[in-house]
Amino acid sequence: MARYREIREVEAYQWKEATPDHPEVVANAVSASKCAKCGHDMGAHGWLQIPRKDNTSVIVSTAMVCPGDWIVTDDNMRVWSDVSFKNRFKKV
Ligand SMILES: [Zn+2]
Repeated sequence: MARYREIREVEAYQWKEATPDHPEVVANAVSASKCAKCGHDMGAHGWLQIPRKDNTSVIVSTAMVCPGDWIVTDDNMRVWSDVSFKNRFKKV
């Protein structure tokens, strides 16, 4: 991971492969189908577990991670496409 700055600094990580190299991402099962968003094999994708807290409970949602997507790990964990991430964040 490296440090990046938006208005505040965040930790970010770029997903490369469907290898278990990020603790919050579950690799997608091997699949011959293609992603409608990026066109890569679905087996190269991952699923990010995102906990959201309200007053009484924690709800976990998931977000698909395409190869090259960035995962920003802060209080509002989320996935950014490579283009969106580079437009929004600059390396510190
Ligand atoms: Zn994709």
